[in-house]
Amino acid sequence: MGDTIPPSTSSPAAATALPTTCQCLGDDDITGSLFDVMVTICVGKGDKTKEFQGHRGLLCHYSSYFKGALEGGFKEAESRTVTLPEDDVEVFEIFFSWLYTRSLFKREHDNLSIPLSWSLLLQVHCFADMRGVPRLQNMSSDAIIDKVANEWRFPHNRFAYIYANTPHKAPLRTLAVDMIIFTGILVEIDCPLPCLTPDMLQDLVVAMQSLNENGTGWKWGRKTWKEINKCKYHVKSDGTPAFVPVKDGDKP
Ligand SMILES: [Zn+2]
Repeated sequence: MGDTIPPSTSSPAAATALPTTCQCLGDDDITGSLFDVMVTICVGKGDKTKEFQGHRGLLCHYSSYFKGALEGGFKEAESRTVTLPEDDVEVFEIFFSWLYTRSLFKREHDNLSIPLSWSLLLQVHCFADMRGVPRLQNMSSDAIIDKVANEWRFPHNRFAYIYANTPHKAPLRTLAVDMIIFTGILVEIDCPLPCLTPDMLQDLVVAMQSLNENGTGWKWGRKTWKEINKCKYHVKSDGTPAFVPVKDGDKP
């Protein structure tokens, strides 16, 4: 039995809405025409396969990957079925729920904590990057910033995951480096150096050099971190970074 979420043309208050000033992706125009024919997405493999049934228009509206698969001349467009054996079911469930609610999770009353685990949140971000879902990518970046501010920690064994699953100069890499140089979190948890990849060490050295030149940063408190310009870590609709520094070390 597949998962089907009833169509909805209204969006409940997003638990992690993009900043109100964010114009990286422009306005999100949802119209009734997006709720068109149903397609099937088979996620995972073996016993762990799960089927989802969702609206083709909505999938294509938010994801360049699904737009290519379902609107192009591929067999998926004719069969109205997309198979994703390498994708994680739990991650896809979050994407699928987000597709209909534009919310990463349900907010419990006025609880400001982010209920997703670090591992899952980073996987959702990388899924959004890989499947071309910039709005989900930006929202998960914001959730990472908020989770750091709330918990004031970051599991250092996740840095290797970030660098293994993102390209050079990816906004998530910039966020990871800024997290270290502006908050000193890495120092506080006494991270063993092997948790950092050579790529990340190189980015850290460059970022720290520019810090010294500008005399900024190091080390912010939670409040300053929480108010960081989140658009520095956003992407545009084509998936490229929204933020272009005027010069190296431009203050976020
Ligand atoms: Zn933005």
